[in-house]
Amino acid sequence: MRDVVVVGGGPAGILLALLLARKGADVTVLERRTTVSDRPRAIGIHPPAARLLRGCGVPLQNALPITSGTARDRDRVLGRLDFAEPVLSLPQHELEHDVRALLADEAPECLKIGVTAHSVRPFDGGVAVETDGGAVHARVAVAADGTGSGIRSRAGIAWRPVPGRADYLMADIADGTRLGSEAALWFVAGGVVESFPIPDRRRRWVARIASRPGKHGGDLARIVAARTGMTVPPCPGEVSRFTASQHLAEHWVAGRLVLLGDAAHEVSPIGGQGMNLGLLDAAPLATAVMTAVATGELRSLHEWEASRRPSARRAIAMARFNMAMGVELPRFAQPARRGAIRAMNLSPVRSRLADAFTMAHL
Ligand SMILES: Cc1cc2nc3c(=O)[nH]c(=O)nc-3n(C[C@H](O)[C@H](O)[C@H](O)COP(=O)(O)OP(=O)(O)OC[C@H]3O[C@@H](n4cnc5c(N)ncnc54)[C@H](O)[C@@H]3O)c2cc1C
Repeated sequence: MRDVVVVGGGPAGILLALLLARKGADVTVLERRTTVSDRPRAIGIHPPAARLLRGCGVPLQNALPITSGTARDRDRVLGRLDFAEPVLSLPQHELEHDVRALLADEAPECLKIGVTAHSVRPFDGGVAVETDGGAVHARVAVAADGTGSGIRSRAGIAWRPVPGRADYLMADIADGTRLGSEAALWFVAGGVVESFPIPDRRRRWVARIASRPGKHGGDLARIVAARTGMTVPPCPGEVSRFTASQHLAEHWVAGRLVLLGDAAHEVSPIGGQGMNLGLLDAAPLATAVMTAVATGELRSLHEWEASRRPSARRAIAMARFNMAMGVELPRFAQPARRGAIRAMNLSPVRSRLADAFTMAHL
């Protein structure tokens, strides 16, 4: 019997496996995909996660430091935040490749790709993770299988919606602006537009759109131009539409099964915290799992959940606030939002905001 089976080789599952392997655990990761997905997802690595990753030996040498952010209406800068420690911009798939490389050095046989796990069945002193190729037995199973976690739903753990839902268009395209390494957010009547630098002279553009189908079509370039005055190249093939929503699993520990990362909490991408949160959950979970494996007692897992749940709640609340600030508003309400943003730019609110936006609280 193994010490730990991790279902899901995304960032949270792989980092956990790396940390466990370094602590001497016999750990295996079951990942259904055969390659890392290069679908655009996380780009922002906030200081606490960057410190954790560097401490684990993840080089982050291709990451681009974002040292400031501005809040704007169409033509004016309403406020500016300078970050004491930069937010790093690095596409998620690049980070995943880097962490996988470290895991391959540490435990070459650990990651099993092309293996789908179906359920986790408890037995006395352990769990059996059912796959097409038979069951894998371990003392503890960790489901890091993402927001749609099949392991969570088959274990009967409720997936509670929490407020915060909105629709966005997004594209990563060549940077023709003069914004340099600055993040820029336009709070305009039509809805927020966000723009972040990413490596290789590109920028991510995200625009809030009305949830009513068909209202904005897929024309991100037109929306960006109309709301910000910035010109971005037409990018029909690159644009994705996503609905940001938020959920929290009712509990993260059920017997010897633990939920990790997006399987435990779905945080809206607006604010860029979901992956960071999962990485920061993984570090103390590795210690808690080692204790559970060594002692046979599960108290350390419950203590881990109790210590990490408040961070998930804060991230969800912050993302909800971010989404509310970016809502489409009638023109008459726009001055009130401008005033609120200007007020937030005053010290000491500004330093608290800088802490919030760099996830000092996670
Ligand atoms: C547009 C967008 C932008 C984002 N931006 C940011 C950002 O800037 N910063 C940030 O922190 N977060 C961001 N996020 C969120 C971030 O992408 C997620 O929080 C992160 O991917 C979660 O990692 P995870 O390892 O928990 O799960 P996932 O990345 O979802 O990985 C789960 C893995 O489990 C595998 N799997 C699923 N089911 C099974 C099964 N039954 N058997 C075996 N394997 C299975 C999947 O193939 C997958 O590899 C963004 C998300 C989106 C959509």
